[in-house]
Amino acid sequence: MPLKELFNTKPKYVTIKPPTPAPPGGVETVERPEKKEIPDGLWTKCGGCGQTIYTKDLAKNLFVCPRCDHHFRIGARERINQLLDEGSFSELFADLRSVDPLGFPDYPAKLKRAQQESGLSEAILVGTGKLEGIPLGLGVMDANFMMGSMGSVVGEKVTRLIEYCLETRLPLVIVAAGGGGARMQEGVLSLMQMAKTSAALGRLGLAGILYISVLTDPTMGGVFASFATLGDIIICEPGALLGFTGPRVIQQTIRQTLPPGFQSSKFQLEHGLADMIVHRRELRSTIARLLRFHHYGGGA
Ligand SMILES: [Zn+2]
Repeated sequence: MPLKELFNTKPKYVTIKPPTPAPPGGVETVERPEKKEIPDGLWTKCGGCGQTIYTKDLAKNLFVCPRCDHHFRIGARERINQLLDEGSFSELFADLRSVDPLGFPDYPAKLKRAQQESGLSEAILVGTGKLEGIPLGLGVMDANFMMGSMGSVVGEKVTRLIEYCLETRLPLVIVAAGGGGARMQEGVLSLMQMAKTSAALGRLGLAGILYISVLTDPTMGGVFASFATLGDIIICEPGALLGFTGPRVIQQTIRQTLPPGFQSSKFQLEHGLADMIVHRRELRSTIARLLRFHHYGGGA
């Protein structure tokens, strides 16, 4: 058959089938979204040691287990409260909204549900603020919003924040948390955000403006493979899952046992991707110190 005809016979539209259950004993290759870990009851069970903790005590401890140091996933607003000087955050580009460019089944409903559940319009908040009195540009992703995946709006907000820092010469800090990587519901438009954010960071680097990237659990896929790992300094929270493809998928593909701790913060530090692992308790003071080292906020 001539090559031309082969292409002509392809269906014009792709039908997306509903997920089928894995065959008994078969291999399941789809990454299931993990149960979200928002402590909203009076008591919260630790995902690390299983201990039940009084949620108020957990909040006082920055959502780190007092017994085993497990770092709970936290939302964007909680993260901003923990990092910035009180009341200093001023949100930018808040009016950007995802459209449904591909007519992907159920996407508008999913977005709406994520907005209602999280109280956010998208999987990232960007803006300016002060950290120990030092002005900076800050972006914080929220893994609870469609697994913190990057669609057009996340990419656009990150890019505009970078350009804002470029204009104002503010240092940039982005806290990444995206288990979903590039958002599949926006197809290639999501993938394009990887190149767009990376190119903008290239311009920021040429202008000599500092970018600190903070990787938190989980940072995967297209988020990991673009702006999250392009920091001049890359900080990880302890015990985070950080990588491109999830360990389960890799293991099933190459059919080999992966080394212990594969894609953990420690693994990424030992293999040269990360520069430091910082306990949440120390995160604010560490970023402040790094900013002062680089002569922001009056210099060291
Ligand atoms: Zn614990």
